[in-house]
Amino acid sequence: MPSKLTHEEAEALVISDDPEHPANLISELCRDFYKLGWVTGTGGGISIRQGEHVYLAPSGVQKERIKPEHIFVLPFAQSSVPKPGSKRDFLRIPSKKGLSESQCTPLFWNAFTMRQAGACIHTHSQHAVMLTLLHPRDAQSFKISHQEMIKGVRIGGVGKTLSFFNTLEIPIIDNTAVEEDLTESMAAAMEEYPDAPAILVRRHGVYVWGNTWEQAKTQSECLDYLFEIAVKMLLAKLPLVGDN
Ligand SMILES: [Zn+2]
Repeated sequence: MPSKLTHEEAEALVISDDPEHPANLISELCRDFYKLGWVTGTGGGISIRQGEHVYLAPSGVQKERIKPEHIFVLPFAQSSVPKPGSKRDFLRIPSKKGLSESQCTPLFWNAFTMRQAGACIHTHSQHAVMLTLLHPRDAQSFKISHQEMIKGVRIGGVGKTLSFFNTLEIPIIDNTAVEEDLTESMAAAMEEYPDAPAILVRRHGVYVWGNTWEQAKTQSECLDYLFEIAVKMLLAKLPLVGDN
């Protein structure tokens, strides 16, 4: 570990009595998201940025059994987008064998650097996946309007909340065989759709971010609701945009 922290200092980064400490929150939220079917089969997860520290769940561990001592901590300041397995600074690496940092790391980094997000959630929710399947193969985005739950979603994920009369639009990108290979296409979609609060990945799931973990969570909930109702509307052949 190339950091200047002692072992005790590094361990203190994840051990806290405070239930709102990121290491405690990530463990608890992954359990909650597991029950929702958002992070099942070791896929999906959450990362929280607090000041200059980024807290990451590991891969290769059951999502409902993550403990604070399994959490990786990285300095937010990195010379390039951190790719899993690449050499760079960690502030803390868990000692348990077989753990590696989340494969989603560079995708979470997109949200932190391009939207100054404080947290990013990745789900494999079937509502998100089914919604992408119900869109034509060449569809670039999902749009929906006139839904109360749109009001829980923020412009760009971090700005003002949308109104009932706004149309929500979320880009859909193609999946890749390896999760980290989504990094560039996710970043390109975020550039092209600066107001989008999330990125849908065809046949895979969704990335959602917010200023704080609470905002990332509530937006994930609102969006998952909207994805679910949109799937039902499409199956019922109802238009997603408009109020008739
Ligand atoms: Zn994934």
